[in-house]
Amino acid sequence: MTHGLSPSNTTAVIGAGPYGLSIAAHLHELKVPTHVFGEPMESWRKMPARMFLKSVWSASSLADPDGAQSLDAFLEVKGVPPPAPIPLDFFIDYATWFQEQAVPDIDHARVTHLSHGTDGFRLKVSDGRELSADTVVVAVGVRQFAHLPEFARDLPRHLASHTGDHVDFSGFRGCRVAVVGAGQSALESAAILRDEGAEVEVISRGPVHWISRTLYSHGGPVRHLLYPPTDVGPPVLNWLCAAPLLMSRLPVQVRQKIEERAVRPAGANWLRARVDGRLPVTTFTQVLDASPSNQGVRLTLSDGTFRQVDHLMLGTGYKPHIGQLDFLDPSLRELVRTRDGYPVLNPWFESSVPGLHFAGGLAGRTFGPICRFVAGARISAQQIARRAAGLN
Ligand SMILES: Cc1cc2nc3c(=O)[nH]c(=O)nc-3n(C[C@H](O)[C@H](O)[C@H](O)COP(=O)(O)OP(=O)(O)OC[C@H]3O[C@@H](n4cnc5c(N)ncnc54)[C@H](O)[C@@H]3O)c2cc1C
Repeated sequence: MTHGLSPSNTTAVIGAGPYGLSIAAHLHELKVPTHVFGEPMESWRKMPARMFLKSVWSASSLADPDGAQSLDAFLEVKGVPPPAPIPLDFFIDYATWFQEQAVPDIDHARVTHLSHGTDGFRLKVSDGRELSADTVVVAVGVRQFAHLPEFARDLPRHLASHTGDHVDFSGFRGCRVAVVGAGQSALESAAILRDEGAEVEVISRGPVHWISRTLYSHGGPVRHLLYPPTDVGPPVLNWLCAAPLLMSRLPVQVRQKIEERAVRPAGANWLRARVDGRLPVTTFTQVLDASPSNQGVRLTLSDGTFRQVDHLMLGTGYKPHIGQLDFLDPSLRELVRTRDGYPVLNPWFESSVPGLHFAGGLAGRTFGPICRFVAGARISAQQIARRAAGLN
């Protein structure tokens, strides 16, 4: 059964997070027939309920063409002052308002299969429908690419989990929990666990960095020259990260170096007071082994010590890889040129398969670290919509 989409002129957007919604808003503006799939803001509804955003206000608006649905516009509608940092529930309310205004028609079905034929793309969705499209935008986020280190892969979930598996930490009250990692998710999860009454230790193979933005706080009128609104990376590199089209022209090795520095694991400064001196942090130490034991998990650390905990929580991030996109037909997957598992993209975020675009984390190897953040949604939305409308 095929219905609903015309193969000749429809763009299917797979994903209704910040990227999918921003892209759809731009497609609507250019009158491109669009079909958006996915559960609006699904990933954000699965984040720790008591979390705050790491990104600053100027970097956290979804992108509509004229800015009428920015965070500032939402504040005016609500009549409240801007919260800092931004609480998760506030951000979800904002994005829901954005979606209702800019992208009211969403198909909540999941795409279960995407293939390619002579007449364009074919999509199968979770309720059994089959549809066609001539352009497809994959904007599915990174949740499905959660990275578990080797030592934790065989442990049962009640003993080891990824930070992304938890909305509510109250079940850990009274438990000993080791949190591995030193990025925002690891550090904030540790802080929330402590608040919930768990006995927590952070274990990190490197140092713990805090993002101070000192030059912003003391930079007076020039601070806006030092920090672009997108705010990804330290001063100087942040301007390069804010220009993903320029970034994509740099040699691969240079881009990788910039990425390593710009998004090294670090916590937001407002989180520091909830971690420093409040819970043990063991740095420059690796977990060599994690084995089930009578009382939970026994950890062997690289400093020669051991830990006995009830639960091991991995704040070890996400590693996007196109091979893990379960809905991509193998024959289509083979046609997509990749580097390190990421699709190689042209300036319109289009892969080596004409009409097949990637946005968000999967675009990161071409366009740099801004693709990991909401702030990267505008440029991808502009480029993809222009291409789909035939303006490029
Ligand atoms: C704990 C945590 C905190 C973060 N904090 C920040 C922050 O403060 N600021 C920031 O800028 N970024 C933050 N990020 C990164 C953030 O996740 C991304 O910036 C943003 O969500 C990327 O948007 P997206 O649209 O690419 O993906 P997502 O928001 O993950 O959206 C993916 C969408 O795809 C849909 N989908 C997935 N598979 C299918 C399918 N097969 N069929 C149909 N639909 C599908 C989902 O339903 C969802 O609608 C954080 C990430 C984490 C994990």
